[in-house]
Amino acid sequence: MNENIMEKIVSLCKRRGFIFPGSEIYGGLAGTYDYGPVGSHLKQNVRDQWRYTMTHMHDNIVEVDASILMERKVWDASGHTSAGFTDPLQECKKCHKRWRADHLTEEGKTKCPECGGALTETKRFNLLVKTHLGPVEDDSTLTYLRGETTQGIYVNFASVVETMRMRIPFGIAQVGKAFRNEITPGHFTYRMREFEQMEMQFFVHHSEADKWFVYWRQERMKWYVDLGINPDHLRFRPHEKSELAHYAKAAEDIEYLFPFGWHEIEGIHNRGDWDLSRHSQFSGQDLSYQDEKTGEKFIPYIIETSAGADRATLAFIIDAYEEVEGGRTTTTKSVKEIETVLRFDRRLAPIKVAVLPLSKKDALIALAQDVAQMLRKNWIIQYDEAGSIGRRYRRQDEIGTPYCVTVDFESLEDKKVTVRDRDTMKQERVVVAELKQYLQEKFSL
Ligand code: ATP
Repeated sequence: MNENIMEKIVSLCKRRGFIFPGSEIYGGLAGTYDYGPVGSHLKQNVRDQWRYTMTHMHDNIVEVDASILMERKVWDASGHTSAGFTDPLQECKKCHKRWRADHLTEEGKTKCPECGGALTETKRFNLLVKTHLGPVEDDSTLTYLRGETTQGIYVNFASVVETMRMRIPFGIAQVGKAFRNEITPGHFTYRMREFEQMEMQFFVHHSEADKWFVYWRQERMKWYVDLGINPDHLRFRPHEKSELAHYAKAAEDIEYLFPFGWHEIEGIHNRGDWDLSRHSQFSGQDLSYQDEKTGEKFIPYIIETSAGADRATLAFIIDAYEEVEGGRTTTTKSVKEIETVLRFDRRLAPIKVAVLPLSKKDALIALAQDVAQMLRKNWIIQYDEAGSIGRRYRRQDEIGTPYCVTVDFESLEDKKVTVRDRDTMKQERVVVAELKQYLQEKFSL
């Protein structure tokens, strides 16, 4: 894998409706991307799978959906607004572009990588995106778009414990947008200014924190492997003591081997009792927890699993990407071409079944539309009648559709259709009346 693959993936994502540059008709807005119709389904499936594993399968994990706008003091309590918490940056004196000091090479620490201008000393800049709420734009109305979803969980900790009668150990999960004024957005959707997180905070007694940290790091690694990522493309990277946030007791990243190198897709952190202690202090509300059995009152420790929905989606796309030299379809025209297939796990595939009438004859179209309508109740379907059948198969391979159902002239006679499997390329004739059950069995494998 190399950077060239990345270019191909970016182009495939645009061509096939996965991901478009943000505000593209205005020349684009750096650090933003929009998911197209196919990409939205894919990302939704990633979220759904995360929810399925984290909340649906754990009766002690519940979900919240907190506001993106939060009381400004939240960010004082979290430490985001204080010096020493934000990223170290160097600014170019000429073009005023800011660079992450820890991302610059040794020789690049004095000169701007873009224009060659001199760089300032390292300073710390706050990455929170500012906005104003209310009629006047002064310091009194300043607030921030949330920089991480985590804080929306902490501010609801007491309400969730009370309303849901949660008993330690338990977790609160959240999926939602976060905003950071990233200095050097890049590598496609890897580093954006608006992105989405899938976070779970697991509240435990401090004596059990190490045990749960080990449990969650394993569980989270399993999630990626189970959804089809090659284990050789995944690794843990424990943080060095010097890298740990000042509150963190332990931290490990799950890294994925992107075409541009090993990079973090998720962090698992033992945050100690720092967060709830700080929020108790800043809000004046006691956020300690009382154990019903022992009577012990304490501030729980927190084990956090913090994944990025966009980074995970990108990793799933890259890992599913395969080029087949010489082509995989048997139509003579495309034999010598390289063909692309996205081998998504069936649960992640954005379009589950494509329905393709062999020709545009009315009778075929009518039957194909009936078949599509029948399947639509269970799955996301794409109905496509444009172009040769080989081209249509290729389009579906490029978006990773597991099954194509072709309606041909014989179908009118024998009421059977051809089902083509994306991976084996095998074709089977299936009776229309049994098609739904046939696919149900395939999808439950
Ligand atoms: P990095 O060091 O790459 O900036 P981080 O350590 O600051 O990341 P966290 O604050 O731990 O990231 O956020 C948890 C997860 O949120 C990351 O693992 C990543 O998947 C996602 N994430 C963070 N920042 C971004 C971003 N700018 N664009 C896309 N996803 C992001």
